[in-house]
Amino acid sequence: MSISATRLLNQLQKTALDAVFPPGCINCAEPIDTAGNLCAQCWPDMTYISAPFCETCGFPFEYNAGNGLVCGACLKQPPAYTRARAVLKYDTASRDMVLGYKHADQTNRAPAFANWMYRAGEKLLRDCDIICPVPLHHRRLIQRRFNQSALLACELSKLSGKPAIPDLIIRKRPTRSQGGLSAKARLRNVQGVFEINPARRELPENARIVLVDDVLTTGATVNSCSKTLLSAGAANVDVLTFSRVVRATNTAI
Ligand SMILES: [Zn+2]
Ligand SMILES: [Zn+2]
Repeated sequence: MSISATRLLNQLQKTALDAVFPPGCINCAEPIDTAGNLCAQCWPDMTYISAPFCETCGFPFEYNAGNGLVCGACLKQPPAYTRARAVLKYDTASRDMVLGYKHADQTNRAPAFANWMYRAGEKLLRDCDIICPVPLHHRRLIQRRFNQSALLACELSKLSGKPAIPDLIIRKRPTRSQGGLSAKARLRNVQGVFEINPARRELPENARIVLVDDVLTTGATVNSCSKTLLSAGAANVDVLTFSRVVRATNTAI
């Protein structure tokens, strides 16, 4: 079959599927024309993160004071990762969409989230050798049945052509959920809990890694994972998340 005939068939199948399951807004499920999008009501409610932002952690600045600026928090305590980027701000508008994906089995949002992440992290993905997710402990994986970050990593692998290793990092022990913990408690909670999967010892020397998660809160988890990857021989680690908490404490300097 020629390529155009295959494309036509795919389009017909998509149209037939859309007729049975009309695409819905990925936030409120209101019917819309194209799948994997937000409706006209939800779109303007979200806060998309764009330049200017901290060169290191991606914290958005209110005004552009020059290129390559680093926020106060990163200057005071540089993270183990090189760069972190996110698509949108985690706030009251995006919270249900993000938590629905994390906890409510709405895994059908993964391709749409990954499409946005691909755009926000294009440079990071271009510069990397391997994509890997923040892991869940296997007990939580059984409860939840999927690792939401691993799904995003696999979708990003399809989009970028870079290999994803979903079980590159593992959790040695279960940890309390980071939700509701202070920044200090979050740091303690994830200290020393990650290790390279013994079955994946072949992590290439000097590999450049993109670490994927759904939400960046204080950065304690991705920082701990980054340290694990760096001590296993990674050249550098960049972090790509769908959303991130934006607190006023990272003021620009
Ligand atoms: Zn909507
Ligand atoms: Zn920063």
